Amino acid sequence: MGYLFGPVLSRRLGLSMGVDLLKYKTCNLDCVYCELGKTACITTCRDRFVPPHKVLKEIEQRRGEPFDHLTFAGSGEPTLSLDLGEILAQAKKIVDSPVAVITNSTLLSRPSVRREVAIADIVLPSLDAASQKAFLAINRPASGLYAKEMVQGLKDFRKEFSGEIWLEVMLVKGINDQEAELIARAAESTQPDRIQLNTVVRSPAEPVEALSEEEMQRMLEIFPGAELIPDWDWSVPARVRDRLIDLLSARPCTLEEISGHLEINVSDAIKYCKIMEKDGLISRRQHSGKLYFYAQL
Ligand code: SF4
Repeated sequence: MGYLFGPVLSRRLGLSMGVDLLKYKTCNLDCVYCELGKTACITTCRDRFVPPHKVLKEIEQRRGEPFDHLTFAGSGEPTLSLDLGEILAQAKKIVDSPVAVITNSTLLSRPSVRREVAIADIVLPSLDAASQKAFLAINRPASGLYAKEMVQGLKDFRKEFSGEIWLEVMLVKGINDQEAELIARAAESTQPDRIQLNTVVRSPAEPVEALSEEEMQRMLEIFPGAELIPDWDWSVPARVRDRLIDLLSARPCTLEEISGHLEINVSDAIKYCKIMEKDGLISRRQHSGKLYFYAQL
């Protein structure tokens, strides 16, 4: 199994080589907008999901490839990995590019997690809610997680971390846009280097709506100094598209089979399948409890 994916073109991090320390999809949230679908394993317990020496070996093997950031993200919440700190520290010795962590911020309320995440060069935390009501509505957390503690964790992290913090705020119509002013105040209080506003652009876990371009422009007045994350590139590399059509024309495949045949991470397989479904090139069907993808012949 591969633990690295990409490099992918990230809207925020340029050419990003991803590192996935989790089993698909392990998270302590079940965000309505999640592009990975519903959370399969919702947990707040940190655990060991992958062998660190294998991840580091793979980083070593790919160190020569061109990428702008080595990014700890992938199929869930990276801070749930108990190996995060150790792998981050070793990875920084291997690669020259800055090392980034994308996190949903919830576990930054724990000092031990803050110490591990602070090994990174850039941290990209999320903050989609300031009230518990909106937190429950948009992020659907595991029990025992509180918006107030998440905001305090971000404030504490700022005091302890001297690297760059790029805070992402995902705005979803009718779910958290009503409390944009409250979120803006909370975001400001955590003193990030950048506040980046986003809305639903990829296929979300639930049928939620994005804010329009005009609505996002208005959000810039509520979040002074913030920036909008540019539109995502809805394209599939030609090589992947052609190989996927060839594969699915021969027989239907599960996501795991697609990932194995195309030698891509499951997260990328999901992303590409979603785009190609949207373009009418492939379709999905359940069979004997499993999800299969078919070519549209
Ligand atoms: S968007 Fe991130 S934090 Fe939210 S459910 Fe998906 S993986 Fe978890």
